[in-house]
Amino acid sequence: MIIALNNKSNLAKAEYQEYLEQLGRIQTEDTLILCPTFLNISNFALNNCYLGAQNVSKNNNGAYTGEISASQLKSYKVKYCLIGHSERREYQKESLEDIHEKLLRLLENDITPILCIGETLEERNNNVVEEVLRKELLTALEGLTNEEKEKVIIAYEPIWSIGTGVIPTNEQIIEVFHFIKELIPNVKVLYGGSANEENIDVLKQIKEIDGYLLGGLSLKPEKLQVFINKCH
Ligand code: PEP
Repeated sequence: MIIALNNKSNLAKAEYQEYLEQLGRIQTEDTLILCPTFLNISNFALNNCYLGAQNVSKNNNGAYTGEISASQLKSYKVKYCLIGHSERREYQKESLEDIHEKLLRLLENDITPILCIGETLEERNNNVVEEVLRKELLTALEGLTNEEKEKVIIAYEPIWSIGTGVIPTNEQIIEVFHFIKELIPNVKVLYGGSANEENIDVLKQIKEIDGYLLGGLSLKPEKLQVFINKCH
């Protein structure tokens, strides 16, 4: 299993230090990926976890004030990077083209992109889920060879499920996972959206799930350990 932890804009310096100590005690055979804020990226020395980032510039190094390039991330030993998170699409107005460019910069620097896709509740109610996901996937992966596509990890995160405590039914998740895996053969797909140490009992029945992207739970190492123990 791949378990990616999205800290979002949380944990100030001292809090992060304490968090790292707790996270370092987590026992797992899974691929654990910590995506802290950029400020905390240089403070990382865990051996049960890989380092990830939450965002990357669509440009290479240069005159792009406030941006962090993929080659800079690489120099800090970042191995994975989230792109296309719905919060960035909505609040930072990231376009499909921006996300495509970011994905290319990551692959050029041997960083594995974790491409987040998902529909709003309105889109689900209007029966356009596949249409939305197809567009998000195909524009992000445009021009890539099959070999390159297989390097990308997809995170299916229904927007109505992120941080709400509501998760889709297993049937809804399975339907989407089949759709993604048929569109992009051999790709790994994570589920994200309010996954926790309680609903994992239900989610783990879905054999198509290759791992999880966790937001809220990433900040609670004790509950995270329970989740990890149960998720197989
Ligand atoms: C996320 O934002 O990627 C996420 C999965 O958040 P949460 O687990 O809090 O719903």
